[in-house]
Amino acid sequence: MNAEQVTGSTYLPKAMRIGVLGFGGLGQAAARVLAPKREMILVAAADKQGYAYAAEGLNAQQCIANYQSHGSVGYLEPFGTLTHRSIEDLLEKSHPVDGYFLALPNLPNNFIPSVARQFIKSGWRGVLVDAIKRTSAVEQLLEMKEELQAAGITYMTGCGATPGLLTAAAALAAQSYAEIHQVEITFGVGIANWEAYRATIREDIAHMQGFTVESARTMTDEEVEALLDKTNGVLKLENMEHADDVMLELAGIVGRDRVTVGGIVDTRNPKKPISTNVKITGRTFEGKISTHTFTLGDETSMAANVCGPAFGYLKAGIGLYQRGIYGLFTAAEIMPQFVK
Ligand code: NAD
Repeated sequence: MNAEQVTGSTYLPKAMRIGVLGFGGLGQAAARVLAPKREMILVAAADKQGYAYAAEGLNAQQCIANYQSHGSVGYLEPFGTLTHRSIEDLLEKSHPVDGYFLALPNLPNNFIPSVARQFIKSGWRGVLVDAIKRTSAVEQLLEMKEELQAAGITYMTGCGATPGLLTAAAALAAQSYAEIHQVEITFGVGIANWEAYRATIREDIAHMQGFTVESARTMTDEEVEALLDKTNGVLKLENMEHADDVMLELAGIVGRDRVTVGGIVDTRNPKKPISTNVKITGRTFEGKISTHTFTLGDETSMAANVCGPAFGYLKAGIGLYQRGIYGLFTAAEIMPQFVK
């Protein structure tokens, strides 16, 4: 990394080589987000049935076309490989990759932590970023902090939209106050059809009354559709188990019991049903109680608000890694860096 190559008379820093694991809604959006970037190139992509790798960079559109028409990036000629052990196989090849975005379902609730363990076992060193959502999932990763550190992995967790962008906004807004009373996150998501984001929707259903992560994981597509038919495609979520709470607590900002997350997801309309926002209430040093509100633009999609921050944190993580700083970090303690 950061080795410089001579191009004519100018020095250009080498682009960061990025892999995206999981090539569903967010994985494909991540490839599109990276396509125009100069500082990062997509060299690896993997899904459940295969992976593709190209040292000089993969074409996002070609990866997406193969995934959508055949069901896997593994069909991409000549870079694809079909395998049901895509992550293991990719790691066994030891291709040079500086950082991976884990755009994987966290179903079951320990799946992403188990992938982190695979990375540790493989001896790979570099930076990992996830957009994981549940408090109990982040807690599993927290327990792996020392192992990650010893393995030479810099792991950035909770770096999507919520947790992620909104948690970081809360951490920033907290600075105006002497004492924080409440952090209230409310999100609105609009997607044209639920099948573009199957894992996201299943994980949301798992927060509804009468469901668990396990029951949502094992629902068939038809069962999900039947549920959505009953609610006109809309999911209303309250008091979710979201890692924004543990992340803000760990960062020393506010106790987890003062953090709430809820939202409305419309699975049949790309227009957001409500504006996504975070309200941070506290007391200033003069004794005034006030609320800062950070509201996302309604035109910004879930994919934009997850993938942008994920790569911003990946870049920040690569900076830490280059300085020999390994272990586990959350979106509430590190500032993301804009990827050019
Ligand atoms: P998806 O269902 O659209 O796609 C999942 C992808 O992972 C598919 O390509 C699938 O083939 C692949 N996959 C599954 N098992 C695999 C395995 N064992 N090896 C390799 N690939 C595998 O998922 P999505 O809706 O894009 O969501 C991805 C994740 O992003 C979810 O965990 C979701 O909770 C999270 N998310 C986070 C936020 C946030 O703000 N933090 C917002 C939305 C989604």
